[in-house]
Amino acid sequence: MAYNYEIGDIVKLKKKHPCGSNEWEILRIGADFRLKCLGCGHQVMIDRKIVAKNTRGLRHKEA
Ligand SMILES: [Zn+2]
Repeated sequence: MAYNYEIGDIVKLKKKHPCGSNEWEILRIGADFRLKCLGCGHQVMIDRKIVAKNTRGLRHKEA
């Protein structure tokens, strides 16, 4: 399944962050994504393929 990722979207990943949240805000899109954990604010760079493989949901940020 292909998701249409956009900056600012909230992506739900299969893997939970140690803080307990599995939702991440997309800050940058490229070969790697920069994601910010909604639970604790931690930022990570993750390979796009890994993001796609672990995506369990995607929603657009509320305006
Ligand atoms: Zn976190």
